[in-house]
Order: sequence, then structure tokens, then C-alpha cells
Amino acid sequence: MSTHETAGGVASDFDVVIAGGGLVGASLALALSGRARRVLLIEGVAPDSSAQPSFDERTTALGNATRRIFQGLGVWDELAGEAAAIRTIHVSEAGRFGSARLRAEEQGVEAFGYVIANRVIGRALWSALQRASGVTLRVPAKVAAAEIAADGASLKLVGADGAQEVVSGRLLVAADGANSIVRAAAGIAAQVEDYDQVAITAPLLTDRPHDGTAYERFTSSGPVALLPLRGGGYGTVWACEPGRAAQLLALPEARYLEALQERFGWRAGRLLSMGRRASYPLRLSRAEATVGTRTVLVGNAAQGLHPIAGQGFNLGLRDAALLAERIAAASGDPGAPELLRGYSQARAADRGGVVRFTDSLVKLFASTWPGASLLRTLGLVMFDLSPPAKRALARVSLGFGGPTPRLARGLPVA
Ligand SMILES: Cc1cc2nc3c(=O)[nH]c(=O)nc-3n(C[C@H](O)[C@H](O)[C@H](O)COP(=O)(O)OP(=O)(O)OC[C@H]3O[C@@H](n4cnc5c(N)ncnc54)[C@H](O)[C@@H]3O)c2cc1C
Repeated sequence: MSTHETAGGVASDFDVVIAGGGLVGASLALALSGRARRVLLIEGVAPDSSAQPSFDERTTALGNATRRIFQGLGVWDELAGEAAAIRTIHVSEAGRFGSARLRAEEQGVEAFGYVIANRVIGRALWSALQRASGVTLRVPAKVAAAEIAADGASLKLVGADGAQEVVSGRLLVAADGANSIVRAAAGIAAQVEDYDQVAITAPLLTDRPHDGTAYERFTSSGPVALLPLRGGGYGTVWACEPGRAAQLLALPEARYLEALQERFGWRAGRLLSMGRRASYPLRLSRAEATVGTRTVLVGNAAQGLHPIAGQGFNLGLRDAALLAERIAAASGDPGAPELLRGYSQARAADRGGVVRFTDSLVKLFASTWPGASLLRTLGLVMFDLSPPAKRALARVSLGFGGPTPRLARGLPVA
């Protein structure tokens, strides 16, 4: 593609332009570094800003495949010291007899996953990006508009000081989240289903140290998850109907803790104190295609999930790992239609599997149909007794089908 003259100066040409440097976009840029490709990463909000929407107060459960990908990207050593290992998963339903417990040692793994604060992940990814070869960073700079043609895409960027710039690339990657401006510019529609739930997150201290157990408790008003944190305490996610969430967010800390204790029970001990609450409306958004002309959608831009099973980022990172692998393996044009088609086909089974698994779990546990509650109890009891079912779930972190990215298998990108 030719270089553009712009009001702000001469624009640059890149092989791959990534819009959005959150969890998935920053990981993709790192996976592409040192691969003889000119990569541009554009992020609207500085990674260490309190307004950063991806690297915020949340904690994320990273599966074992994600750990291997982060090892391959050279950031795991920094993260490991701040991670709490999940050694047991305990699933139960309020008011019901059935519960299920999965132990990592029984599945032959050291841990099911690792819980880390999003801010810590952001810090590790972005500090590695400062040293990454072949990656140009534009931060803070927002993608204000995108034009996509058969031979490449050009983007209008607006910096924090209002300065404008036009950049172009042979492949444009949408890693700009669920409301992706790039997806819209590519003319790709998204199906959105509102779950009519809001997730409230907050770190929490209890009166006893955790033993590496992650709890998922299904209640009549939505699921509650407690994820163990490094240094004691838990990260909590409480999903409930929006009106109830507004009331809960307005409660003083002591009353909120009482309400949570009442919902969750005492299995993690007495809830003592908590940090700042944040809230996230929950919906399933699915782009109708994951590739278009010169464009690929990854992470939340491709699919935004309910956090019930802790799969959104793990899935999005596998998008990034496989895309980097396909680009690294191709010597020619990274935006060539056959490369994009091949990538999209290769990701379809994993994407479809995780979306269906997560969506069915939300609906099964939200259902008020009397048969559903029997099914849930039976499911939990039988699951607790069934080693093959437990083994299948323990392997979920490798993906739900299609080729496992090289990085997730502990191999280099190419
Ligand atoms: C409560 C909650 C708990 C979760 N827990 C887990 C978990 O335990 N495990 C798990 O795997 N997943 C979890 N998830 C899902 C996970 O957070 C998402 O899958 C992940 O954030 C997706 O990352 P992303 O980079 O694709 O998108 P985002 O995180 O949305 O990042 C998009 C980035 O693009 C930038 N951007 C947007 N527009 C522009 C623009 N125009 N120009 C420039 N930059 C732009 C934004 O500033 C942002 O940095 C959870 C989600 C929620 C809501």
C-alpha cells in the first residue's frame, strides 16, 4: 500500500494494525513481535490509567493453556509471583443438596488455573511490549474511523492532545472490545443477547485463609463466584438482576457483606471486609463473522461472554495465539483472503464450543422450570461421581476443538 499524506504528517505503513491494546490485543502484539512483520498497536487508554477498561480492578482466572501461552510470550515469570493457584473447584446450588468438587491432583494437573489481577496482567504485557522488536505503539490514541479496501485498511487516529494521524496496514485486527468500531467499519454485524444480569466484582477478606479453592454457587438470583487471591482473600463476582444489583451497589459495605454471606453461605468462612465494587452489564455478543476483507476480529470484538465459566479471555487469547501463528507461518500478505479464511475455519469449533457451553450454563442455572432444578441437582451429583465428566471439564482449558495453538502446547509461535 502507498504511504498517505495527512494533515498531521506522513502516515506509516504496517503489515498488521491492531486496534485495541487490552488483554487480547496487547497479547497478540507481543506474539507477533520479532516475526519480521511491522506491527502497530493502538490503544485508547494508557495501560496504567485508572480508567483503563481492560486492565481494571477485576481478577481473571487463567487456564493452563493460557499459562503456557504467557510462558511463550515471556511474561509468565513476572505473573507467577502474583498468581493464586486454583487447586479445587467447588460447585453448588443454594437450597439444593447436590454439589461437585474437582481436585487438580485427581486430574493429574498442578492447578486448574491461576487467578491474577487484570492490572498486573496489563503491567506485564505492556512492559514486555516496550522491549518488543517490530512493534510500534500508539497510546493513548483512539481509532476514530476506519476505511477498508481490497488492498488494505487505513485508520484515522486521534491522540490525547487531539492530534490526528492516518495509519494504514495490510491486515487490520479488531481487538477493540465488544463495541468494536472496527467491526462496524468492516460491516460485520453482531448478535447481542442481554442476559438481564449485572456482575458486581469486589475483592474480599474472610476470617480464614483460603486453601486454593474456587467456589461457584448458583443462587435463584444468579451465580456467585469466589476466586482465591494471592496473599489470602478472594476475588468475587456476583451476578444478579439489574434492579437488585443497583440496590446492592448502593449498600454500605457491612450490609453488602451480610447480603453476600446470606447468598453464598459459610463455606469460605465469615466475610470480613471488601475492596471497591465495580459492575458490568452481562450480555452475549457474537459477531456474525470473525473475518472480513483485510479484517480479523479477536477477543471480545468477536465474542463477549458471561463470566460464569471464566472463559472469555482464555478463548480470546487462543484467538490471538492462532492468528499470530498463521501470520508468522505465511511468508506473504498477512491480510490475504485465504489466510483469513483458514484462520476463521480453524477457530470455529473452539469459539462455538465455548459460546454454547457458557450460554447453556447461564440458562440452565437461571431456569425456573421445575425440571431444570432436578436436572441441576442430578447433574451436580452425577458429575461429582463421574471421573470422565471431571476429566472432560479439566481439559476445557485446552480449548473446545479445532487445532490447539502452538503457544498453548508450549511451542514457539513459529
Ligand atoms: C466480571 C467479569 C469477570 C471476568 N472473568 C474472567 C475470567 O475469570 N477468565 C476469563 O478468561 N475471562 C474473564 N472475563 C472476560 C474477559 O474480561 C474478557 O474476555 C477480556 O476482557 C477480553 O479482552 P479484549 O482485549 O478482547 O477486550 P477488552 O478487555 O474490552 O479490551 C478492549 C481494549 O480496546 C481499547 N479500545 C476500545 N475502543 C478503542 C478505540 N476506538 N481505539 C483504541 N482503543 C480502543 C480499550 O481501551 C481496551 O483496552 C471476565 C469478564 C467480566 C465482565
